[in-house]
Amino acid sequence: MTKIIDGKEISKIIRAEQKEKVELFKKNTGITPGLAVVLVGEDPASQAYVRSKRRACKNMGIHSRDYNYPTTISELEILKLISELNEDDEIHGILVQLPLPKHINENKVLLTISPDKDVDGFHPQSLGKLVIGMETFFSCTPFGIIKLLEYSGIEIEGKHICIVGRSNIVGKPMANLLLRKDKTGNATVTVCHSRTKDITFHTKQADIVIAAIGKPEFITAEMIKDGAVVIDVGINRVDNAEAERGYILVGDVDFKEVSKKTSFITPVPGGVGPMTITMLMYNTILSATRYADKKRLEN
Ligand code: NDP
Repeated sequence: MTKIIDGKEISKIIRAEQKEKVELFKKNTGITPGLAVVLVGEDPASQAYVRSKRRACKNMGIHSRDYNYPTTISELEILKLISELNEDDEIHGILVQLPLPKHINENKVLLTISPDKDVDGFHPQSLGKLVIGMETFFSCTPFGIIKLLEYSGIEIEGKHICIVGRSNIVGKPMANLLLRKDKTGNATVTVCHSRTKDITFHTKQADIVIAAIGKPEFITAEMIKDGAVVIDVGINRVDNAEAERGYILVGDVDFKEVSKKTSFITPVPGGVGPMTITMLMYNTILSATRYADKKRLEN
């Protein structure tokens, strides 16, 4: 019988632990962890995501500040705002909701965020440190997956883990976290992508398969070995006339068939999804703690 990895429940446990940490931190330092969220445009999915972040901050005692701009805002104005937030002592994390409109260079924006406040872990310095095993902010979705495995009692060390997808926000940081010589890693990692010749050859050998492709139900039962663990990162909207909103959310894994073979599997929704925001909160609290330590050393 497969076990369902309940991302909502694990999120709840981590958020409760972190909320306690925030209360103690505030009492000891007088500092409230602060997160700035920058949103450009009116994409409903981005707006919903930003609302969830605001709610999570409120529930955990984190100060949140929203910056919402129309798509007419210039690149210079955004860069200026980020520079100001870099200097703002009340803000310990800066998150710019992607994608940005075409006239704004995303790389320029990410490079402007101070690595000390890069709670999304997208800055090249954060990614570089992740790769060479240094302390840094880990990208939230891959970090959330590490926590899902940890809280489910699934060993990573020595396992063969196959990731399908090599994006900068999921696949690549995931692979590198799993390769680190510490408790997030020591796995043997295979990464597949759209140019991989025989994906099934690789996934079929893996103890753990992580699917981050963006294609509904791409991973089928034939691609998975008996007893494997399957983590589904995908969030795909599929039209469905019977659903209230006219669509349903489907992962990158054919859950119904694949779950007949697995030892553990994440559902969509309710698996990886809730963990991303939880780890954003975690990183913001970590950043505030590092800020307080730095201030203490300066005084
Ligand atoms: P990207 O589109 O950036 O990357 C997709 C990856 O999948 C690429 O590496 C691509 O290969 C690979 N791929 C695409 N088609 C195929 C194929 N036919 N065969 C093999 N590989 C293929 O997506 P993201 O990584 O940003 O996101 C992946 C999914 O995860 C999406 O559904 C997204 O919505 C979801 N997501 C969920 C999050 C959460 O919080 N749960 C957070 C982030 C993403 P190539 O590099 O060769 O193009």
